[in-house]
Formats: sequence, C-alpha cells, structure tokens
Amino acid sequence: MTEPRIYLSPPDVTDVERKLLLEAFDSNWVAPVGPDLDAFEARCAELVGVRHAVALSSGTAALHLALIAAGVRRGDTVLVPSFTFAATANAVMYLGARPVFLDSTPESWNVDPQILADELRGRAVRGQLPRAVITVDMYGQCADYRPILEACDRYGVPLIEDAAEALGATYRDRPAGSFGLAGVLSFNGNKIVTTGGGGVLVTDDGSVASQVRHLSTQAREPVAHYEHRTVGYNYRLSNLLAAVGRGQLQRLPSMIEARRVTFEHYRAALGDLPGVSFLPVAGYGVPNWWLTCLLVGSPATRDRILAGLAREDIEARPTWKPMHLQPAYRDCVMRGGAVSADLFHRGLCLPSGSALTGHDRDRVVAAVRSVAAEQEG
Ligand SMILES: *Cc1c(COP(=O)(O)O)cnc(C)c1O
Repeated sequence: MTEPRIYLSPPDVTDVERKLLLEAFDSNWVAPVGPDLDAFEARCAELVGVRHAVALSSGTAALHLALIAAGVRRGDTVLVPSFTFAATANAVMYLGARPVFLDSTPESWNVDPQILADELRGRAVRGQLPRAVITVDMYGQCADYRPILEACDRYGVPLIEDAAEALGATYRDRPAGSFGLAGVLSFNGNKIVTTGGGGVLVTDDGSVASQVRHLSTQAREPVAHYEHRTVGYNYRLSNLLAAVGRGQLQRLPSMIEARRVTFEHYRAALGDLPGVSFLPVAGYGVPNWWLTCLLVGSPATRDRILAGLAREDIEARPTWKPMHLQPAYRDCVMRGGAVSADLFHRGLCLPSGSALTGHDRDRVVAAVRSVAAEQEG
C-alpha cells in the first residue's frame, strides 16, 4: 500500500472554519466588507497587542502599503535582510526604491543587529540614511529587537516588521508584529494560520492605519461621487476569507503547540546525526515553531536528504535562497553574505504542518536517517 504524500506546511482547517465560512456566505456579506472582516481585524490587533489592524489581500500587499506609510519613494534606500522570501524585497522594488541587503546572525538566522547598526552609522556619516528598515521574523522566531530598535531610534529611521511567518511568537514577552511603525502578517496557505490567501497590517499608529485602509480601497474620498486625490490599490480582504481567518485564530494556540511538539520530536530523533544542527532558539523569546529547519554537514548531504525525502513522497525544501544570490537582485548592495549563503547551502525545512501525525513524523525521520546511514556506510 502506498502512503499518502506528506506536505511541508499544508492548511489545517476544520468544521470551526467551515461553519464560520458558510455563515458568512449565508449572510450575503460576500464582499471585501462585512462583520467578519471587522471581527478578524479586531482579533488580530488584540493578538499582536496593538490598536489597529487592516486586513488585506496578501502579506505582500501589507508590506507594500507599510512602506508607503513609512514614506518610501522612488530612489530611496531600504535596508532588508538578505535571508528572506522574495516578497520582502519585492515590495521595496514596487515603489522604485532600492533594497540594501544585510547578512544574518547564525544565532537566530535573523538580520545581524551589529551589521544593521554599522550600516546605519556609516550611512548617517555620509548623509545617506535609508528611508526605512525592514526586519523579518524568520521561520517564526523574532529578530533581536532591543539592539535593532535602539539603532533605528538613534537615527530616526522607521522600522517595518515583516512578521509574515511569526504570528503568535514573542520577543521578551511582546508579540511579533508589534515592534515597528507597522507589522505585517500573512495568511497565505502555507503559513501557521491561513485564510486561503490574505495579509494583515498591524500598527499602533492611527494615522498609518487610516492611510493604509484608504489606499487599500482605491483611495476613494468619502463623498457620494467617485473622488480620488491619490492613486489607490484594490488590496482589501474578502469578508468570506476573514470568516475562515476568525476560525483559524481561535485554534492558533493548539496549532502552535502542535508545531512545537513536531520540532521537539525531530530534534530528539535526528539531533544525534553527525553534522546536524537545528535552527537555534534564541533565549530572548518564544517562536511559533512555524517550520522545523536544520543544517546538515554539507550541501551534498542536504541535496541527498531532499532527494531521499522526495522518493518517499515527502515534501521538504531548502531554506530560503538569499536575495543577494538571486538573479533579480544581482545589482543590489550586500553587507556580509557568508552566513546567509551557508544557511541556504546546508539548510532544509522538514514537514511541519499542525495536522502532521506521529506516523507522518516517523516516516520523515526514517527517510532522513536512511540517507544518513548510506553516508556512513
Ligand atoms: C509569506 C511571506 C510573505 C508574503 O506573504 P503573502 O501573504 O504570501 O503575500 C512575506 N514575507 C515573508 C517573510 C513571508 O514568509
């Protein structure tokens, strides 16, 4: 009998979400406006501990509008971690601004606070401060915000927090998403919770929230006829999808717990293999355990493990390919680069969905161990 395919991070939806979705459908709020959208935003703001949340069609749209709210314009510079998903840097390009990429620290795989501080200091001296800094909370673990905020505050540069992967994580007891001028959450299908596609911008700043809400609804002025003083976007989330999101948020604590158990299981079952190390958990916070990621001894071993998992119909992936190694970004400035390149060349992500069963985990572990045993032999 062949076993079913195991996915990296598939959606985990239940009757809770189904019921809310059908209720929204039956209410005829089948539009990017309605009571589920309001309730979903209120719950997101509450979870992140900020005053405002604006639900949008994607995390990428939230990044785009966050950068506009931070004042980023054509020709500006924005500091961005190289080790991230392309969406982070793409949003900078949409505005005709240029990313300057920064390397990661091996301690958390997030942006290296020292490289960030050095870059800001050097740019202050040259009179070339960036318009904004973006941090990413990688694989569900916060960046080190104490030194990062200190550096941004010293030079008066606004921070945008890309917490697309990190809903539910904390840094020194403060929730991911709450650290910058604005935070970005993603509800894409592979994230810890999903609306099937969606994003939320969270902020304590009422003027940022109202500007983003305005821009996301075609920048229509509040008059009877169609009046536009600026160019807007059609970036609002559907009320139907927000209903799904409400159900997912109710289940967030148990989904985080399921992913934590999976991480602990993989670490116990694979941690003894030669050359293997897991994404380090920094002492300053608690991750949401979105994906279990590890490094192995060499790029060749990493590729053999991925091939071995694929043979067993198990979806696993290399870690993010850094932006400074991407053809689309080859002309951009990079500060450092050896750490993020190594994370990419030796890193992989194991199946980590919150509905993963013990049997699934055993299949993953057996497949990884059998490749490791070949290596030994
Ligand atoms: C998923 C992700 C995004 C984009 O979110 P979408 O909702 O898919 O647009 C942005 N940044 C990071 C780090 C992500 O992982």
